[in-house]
Amino acid sequence: MARYEVIIIGGGPAGFTAGLYASRAGLKSLLIERGMFGGQMVNAALVENYPGFPEGIPGAELGSLMHQQTVKYGLEVITAEVTGLTQGQPYGISTTEGSFESAAIIIAAGSEYRKLGAIGEERLSGHGVSYCATCDGFLFRGREVAVVGGGDTAITDALELSRHARKVHVIHRRDQLRAGYTLQQRAFAQPKLEFIWSTVVEQILGEKVLKELRLRNVKTHEFSILEVAGVFVAIGLMPNSQRFFNIVDLDDAGYIVTDETMATSAPGIFAAGDIRRNSARQIAAAVGDGVTAAMSAFKYLQERS
Ligand code: NAP
Repeated sequence: MARYEVIIIGGGPAGFTAGLYASRAGLKSLLIERGMFGGQMVNAALVENYPGFPEGIPGAELGSLMHQQTVKYGLEVITAEVTGLTQGQPYGISTTEGSFESAAIIIAAGSEYRKLGAIGEERLSGHGVSYCATCDGFLFRGREVAVVGGGDTAITDALELSRHARKVHVIHRRDQLRAGYTLQQRAFAQPKLEFIWSTVVEQILGEKVLKELRLRNVKTHEFSILEVAGVFVAIGLMPNSQRFFNIVDLDDAGYIVTDETMATSAPGIFAAGDIRRNSARQIAAAVGDGVTAAMSAFKYLQERS
């Protein structure tokens, strides 16, 4: 079984930065990513708040550059899904591409979009159901769409969609938005936005593509039908921590609990980026976490030898 000093789970900004620092420190390191290099940021058409790029940079390009930079310093990178992590030194990691051992692990597996759990959601995902307005908004030029959620993401998405769509229905389960004041003001001033309060999506209907939503008013319990070409689900993120719940401590929302050195409750296991509790959920913050986690892993390995 191949053995490493550090294995990094996740190829977003936190993971690649940890990999850069670990490989440049001379540690035999492997990074495992299941999807596209860059993680969540590949969905961002333009990243404008990451320092060093005054004109902004497409998220996918930034992810690709991070990958290239780490490989140059000897980080091994594979595309595989982690299927298990075993307790005790050395830690064993099973993946869809084989099993590995490592003395230190850095979990940087990020988070993913929370799903509604509505009937038809999974089946029509990519056929009218989307989780990324920036990626898919232009597909609905001149059409009528809906956004589900009342937070900053939902309102940012609704405003973004109003540039393309004829009308944007914002469906929120309460009668008050969670989004910040300025966003709310902008949303209420945008005539293309219509708010459907105290309502949840029960069913997403359509044979091959989305045709309509079946809604339920949570106060009156009345059902209604809304005809839309697209629905953008923007109800928050969920940490990808399910595989690790019996190895490291998680908080109530499922985020990995770390200290300021990125150490988790398990010796030699560190966490970085969006998956850890109290992360700022920004690319620049994830990069910083990656640095700290790699330095802590290096220190841990030195103290053990
Ligand atoms: P969020 O703040 O957690 O909001 C999630 C929204 O979805 C809430 O309105 C929530 O309703 C609703 N919701 C949750 N589960 C639901 C369900 N099962 N069915 C229906 N509705 C559901 O998530 P977010 O908007 O993605 O924001 C995440 C973080 O990123 C926040 O800290 C936010 O400030 C930040 N952010 C900032 C900006 C910006 O500043 N421009 C943009 C995007 C995100 P309730 O309100 O009833 O709980």
